[in-house]
Amino acid sequence: MDFIKDAIRTIPDYPKPGIMFRDVTTMLKDARAFRAAIDAMVQPWAGAKIDKVAGIEARGFILGGAVAHQLSVGFTPVRKKGKLPGRTLEESYELEYGTDAVEIHADAIAETERVLLVDDLIATGGTADAAIKLLRRAGADVVGATFVIDLPDLGGSKRIEALGVPCASLVSFE
Ligand code: 5GP
Repeated sequence: MDFIKDAIRTIPDYPKPGIMFRDVTTMLKDARAFRAAIDAMVQPWAGAKIDKVAGIEARGFILGGAVAHQLSVGFTPVRKKGKLPGRTLEESYELEYGTDAVEIHADAIAETERVLLVDDLIATGGTADAAIKLLRRAGADVVGATFVIDLPDLGGSKRIEALGVPCASLVSFE
């Protein structure tokens, strides 16, 4: 996974001072790293009978679309509030300052569908936690969550596993 990690660029002080932003766009533009990342994100779920992939806005759409194609299953977007045109379900989550909310279409998931959640990075796990609650409210069996990057110091993957959802990631940063 070293070459995948090397393809991820770090931008200091973005979006605010003190944050080291892990930028996957440099990995996405690298054909070999992108291909290898998708293969590695799918691999832990071989035989898991995934019915659908859910990707979190916005980089989770790029990765999740490719993962869904690889698994030959459908894709559903988990979007920031107010972006989806049809009837939606909404779940709020805490940010450092204030709250945010994610939505899915109310008819995005059929009852008991086995769903794999995809995003580029897990930090505190707040976003993935809200997405899992939303998918479960829609009737999904959330089989797992797969990320390119884990920031283990922030505890997100432990938080998601405590919800009963196994997590996989390709690389971690302190
Ligand atoms: P969490 O909710 O786990 O604290 O934050 C994860 C969400 O914020 C993900 O949707 C992820 O895309 C975004 N995010 C937070 N920090 C970074 C970062 O350093 N790089 C990237 N690419 N995304 C981040």
